[in-house]
Amino acid sequence: MDDWSRQDVSTLSGVGPKLKEKLARLGITSKQQMLFHLPLRYEDRTQITPLGSLQSGQRVLIQAEILQSGVSFRRQGRSRRLLLVKLADGTGFLTLRFFNFNAGQQNRLEKGNWIRCFGEARLVMGSIEMVHPEYEIIHPDTPPPLDSYLTPVYPVTDGLHQLSLRKIMRQLILQLGELGLTETLPLQWIQQHHLPSVTQALQILHNPRNLDDVQKIQSVQHPAQQRFIIEELTAHRLSLLQRRQQISRLHCPSINDSDDFEQKLLSSLEFELTAAQRRVINEFKQDYRLNQPMMRLIQGDVGSGKTIVAAIAALPVIASGYQCALMAPTEILAQQHMKNFYTWFADLGINVVSLMGADKGKKRTLKEQQIACGEAQMIVGTHALFQASVSFNSLGLIIIDEQHRFGVDQRQALQKKADDNIMPHQLIMTATPIPRTLAMSVYADLDYSQIDELPPGRKPVKTSIISQSKRDELINKVSTACAKGQQLYWVCTLIEESEVLQCEAAELTYENLRKQLPDINIGLVHGRMKAAEKEQVINAFKDGSIQLLVATTVIEVGVDVPNASIMIIENPERLGLSQIHQLRGRVGRGNIDSFCLLLVKANLSRQVSKRLEVIRNHQDGFIIAEKDLEIRGAGEVMGTRQTGEASFRIVDLVRDKRWFSQAEQLAKLLMEDTNAQQRQQLLDNWIGFKAAYSDVG
Ligand code: ADP
Ligand code: MG
Repeated sequence: MDDWSRQDVSTLSGVGPKLKEKLARLGITSKQQMLFHLPLRYEDRTQITPLGSLQSGQRVLIQAEILQSGVSFRRQGRSRRLLLVKLADGTGFLTLRFFNFNAGQQNRLEKGNWIRCFGEARLVMGSIEMVHPEYEIIHPDTPPPLDSYLTPVYPVTDGLHQLSLRKIMRQLILQLGELGLTETLPLQWIQQHHLPSVTQALQILHNPRNLDDVQKIQSVQHPAQQRFIIEELTAHRLSLLQRRQQISRLHCPSINDSDDFEQKLLSSLEFELTAAQRRVINEFKQDYRLNQPMMRLIQGDVGSGKTIVAAIAALPVIASGYQCALMAPTEILAQQHMKNFYTWFADLGINVVSLMGADKGKKRTLKEQQIACGEAQMIVGTHALFQASVSFNSLGLIIIDEQHRFGVDQRQALQKKADDNIMPHQLIMTATPIPRTLAMSVYADLDYSQIDELPPGRKPVKTSIISQSKRDELINKVSTACAKGQQLYWVCTLIEESEVLQCEAAELTYENLRKQLPDINIGLVHGRMKAAEKEQVINAFKDGSIQLLVATTVIEVGVDVPNASIMIIENPERLGLSQIHQLRGRVGRGNIDSFCLLLVKANLSRQVSKRLEVIRNHQDGFIIAEKDLEIRGAGEVMGTRQTGEASFRIVDLVRDKRWFSQAEQLAKLLMEDTNAQQRQQLLDNWIGFKAAYSDVG
């Protein structure tokens, strides 16, 4: 970094201890950080707007004579004094209103004086006003010069004023002009893409010369911004790649190349793997051969068959004498995995053990002992897996299912359960289908596999939107379907944060449906029930003794009951599209025609209907996620934990997606040894101390 820009902000004149402290609250301690504190917007004080042409809502600079000035009172609760100042400039009139003023100000705002103001013009009852504008008294014959640049408006904090920030910034921009910053991007690359240098770009963003610049900046189209967006994306990616490089140098369990278990397992299955499943399996087998810790993300739409792929990944690890842990976000799902793994692995002589929150007392101690001594080879569980009391004998592979439900810290806690100095292999599975380019940006530290094919014979789930007013008809349909031996889900949603309310809603619906459909066996499952109760209900649904299962979104992930062919979702508008898609993925798993009915209020807004139509018209999770991203933004769709959104300063992952491939190229270029210095500079500029909290590990 350039020496001058490393200097502390207090080396600027006018920055004393107090100001220094306030700047620190904005994360600014060095000149360099100050330069990257970019304006939020700009104000045009380069010209004076005649009063006659003022329009409501405009923020403008005006200059006029005071015609009249006086205090009046208004009543609002208690009466308040109000200073009203009437102005004219020969083209029109304007009234200023001040609610807080002192005698000095009142004196200066006296009739006959000239004034220059900056503020927002508003039309109030037929006349134009400004409330509390910035102003100065001027001499009409020798007015102060107008600004030649547009005025930046910076993010500030309590007690730090725009004016003081602008003043020190002006000093700093002068220094920048004289001394310049070392270019952080390869020169040739900048020229190729017609981007300004780092120094020019900062000058433009702090002091745009004209409205054309400002318009481009405001629509985030200005090359000066683009270069910084690309920089930040690249820096983010570089930090992940570097982290990745560090991990690849760590010791990992060495996995023997042996297919014996796999052959046996495959021949016991009732189905053939899809080509996509086979491809992904080959991808992680390659990883094992590299003898570096595997870090692989497997994405596959709901029902694409990730579980069997995970099971196959565990086999060589177990054959090599290591343990494998599979962590799922809910007990329902963990139980289901337990059953599958038991079915698949028992004949291979592999010992499968589950561990959940519900395991207590002696039972738990016994399980923990089996895990600690290595007798348990395949361990399936929930968050219970990384609790302090659990220690593994030789953890070789971690599989995380539905990774968006876990935080980075939870993943790391499990990772620490491996032996000292050993980085276990990791397989991370998700059904939240993130568009590939976005995934590559957010997960640059992970290798990426995609199961982009559903098992054959799956029929699309016919989806329709039905008004609550047709609830009675719907009840009849439910009754008919049950009579035909079909099974249904009835999903109750409420604002997700309130699990209590959601459960109450489900209980109420359950009671009502039991009254309306007395001949049908109805079950209820929600998040506040005990694990054993939940399991009992799910099992009863699986074996067909329950025909209609009323549930909250606890069944969102994983639950696999092929005979269930109809899903009714109440108030689907409360859920994200990807979440509805996940829910809907619970049906359409068998070979019967299946349906999803979205039960909505009578008067949906246009926007909500449009969102739901996306679900109705599309079956492909990737397309749905793409639309959901456009509508709700990356943070919402993937969970802030995953995007680390807070860690982007100017990048918006949805808005800026057109730069992803550029950033990818650039990151590759900068990873070359010859570019080490620029790489470090970029990381310093954009990631800095945050690198210490890097996402993976
Ligand atoms: P998800 O990717 O949503 O986790 P699962 O692993 O739960 O999907 O698989 C969904 C269902 O599809 C399961 O019943 C599973 O046994 C079945 N399945 C998986 N792979 C295949 C395949 N190649 N052919 C047919 N059925 C399959
Ligand atoms: Mg799954």
